[in-house]
Amino acid sequence: MDLDQLGALLRERREQHLYRQRKIIASPQGPVVQVDGRPLISFCSNDYLGLANHPQVIKAMQQGAERYGAGSGASHLISGHSEAHHALELELAEFVQRPRALLFSTGFMANLGVITALFGKGDAIFEDRLNHASLIDAGLYCGARVQRYLHADINSLQNYLAKSTAAQKLIVTDGVFSMDGDVAPLPELVALAAEHNSWLMVDDAHGFGVLGESGRGTVEHFALADGIPIYMATLGKALGTFGAFVAGSVELIETLIQSARSYIYTTALPPAVAEATRASLKLVQQEPWRRDKLRSLIARFRQGAQQLGLTLMDSVTPIQPLIVGDNEKALRYSDALLEKGFLIGAVRPPTVPQGSARLRITISAAHEEHQIDRLLEALDQIR
Ligand code: PMP
Repeated sequence: MDLDQLGALLRERREQHLYRQRKIIASPQGPVVQVDGRPLISFCSNDYLGLANHPQVIKAMQQGAERYGAGSGASHLISGHSEAHHALELELAEFVQRPRALLFSTGFMANLGVITALFGKGDAIFEDRLNHASLIDAGLYCGARVQRYLHADINSLQNYLAKSTAAQKLIVTDGVFSMDGDVAPLPELVALAAEHNSWLMVDDAHGFGVLGESGRGTVEHFALADGIPIYMATLGKALGTFGAFVAGSVELIETLIQSARSYIYTTALPPAVAEATRASLKLVQQEPWRRDKLRSLIARFRQGAQQLGLTLMDSVTPIQPLIVGDNEKALRYSDALLEKGFLIGAVRPPTVPQGSARLRITISAAHEEHQIDRLLEALDQIR
């Protein structure tokens, strides 16, 4: 492709209202952020517990930088695996009640690493249609046959499983779906996996820290003691920092250390980030009020939206999208909200299916009730 063709494709994107642009943020994450010199009430970050700018987390990062410097210097297998990383892995494993945990530099890389290390030609991967892009890409990249079952539809999955003669099978799902906010039917998936002798992997990026009494995510939400051999979650959302981990058996983790290419061939996270995450993991455990407050803000939003006659998704999580449908209309709504002082992104295809462009509203424990009320007022005015 030459530059003229790239230019033409970009123009086409603009005409279809699919062009993506970045807003430049001049402040920490929080309920109010600074954009173009203006304070905006933000309802679009994944900082669900309000830890990204927490003084204890910042302090831990500063102390981590003083002790270990700014960068890790190498991959984990060479000389980049610090005491900070190691301690965090032990603490994460203990928290999620699994024998071992392994840190990855991002969630995208964790998903890619796990799936390509364990599965390949001759295997079958069953993916929920609404799984995160990293899971879909990992499935395609590893060479296994990928079958995408209807969203959260156990019958659709069962049909595929029953017909499969693959050497190894993997059912993989988001724990909380990132663009819809609903929770995967994990108890049924655990049962199906056992029945069909399949692996089960859960990407709990949006459940970890948020769901369950103590924040152990979808597994705790459903009181599933066992049955999920591969548990993955990210650290850049509720935990407020950066990175991801995979938790499971000793054999799983040791295999990933030997074979997961996105683990082996990349620089380890800065140790200071691991120290910050250790501090936020403590807060997740010591401050359950954050989850209580979040639940009550979510309930307030849903109740208010229902009173206004807004159509909500079936979500108990901080992800409360309003489906608009049309791409241009979603952009117009997002712009109108911006005018009124709110930052809420218009999420459009291919991130979400065609015809389901939406305002992805996310709520944080850092919000206050009056901010929820103001958002509801603004939503009422713009439609
Ligand atoms: N899985 C899901 C469900 C996600 O929403 C995300 C982030 N948007 C990722 C994985 C990727 O995580 P990271 O941002 O750490 O790469």
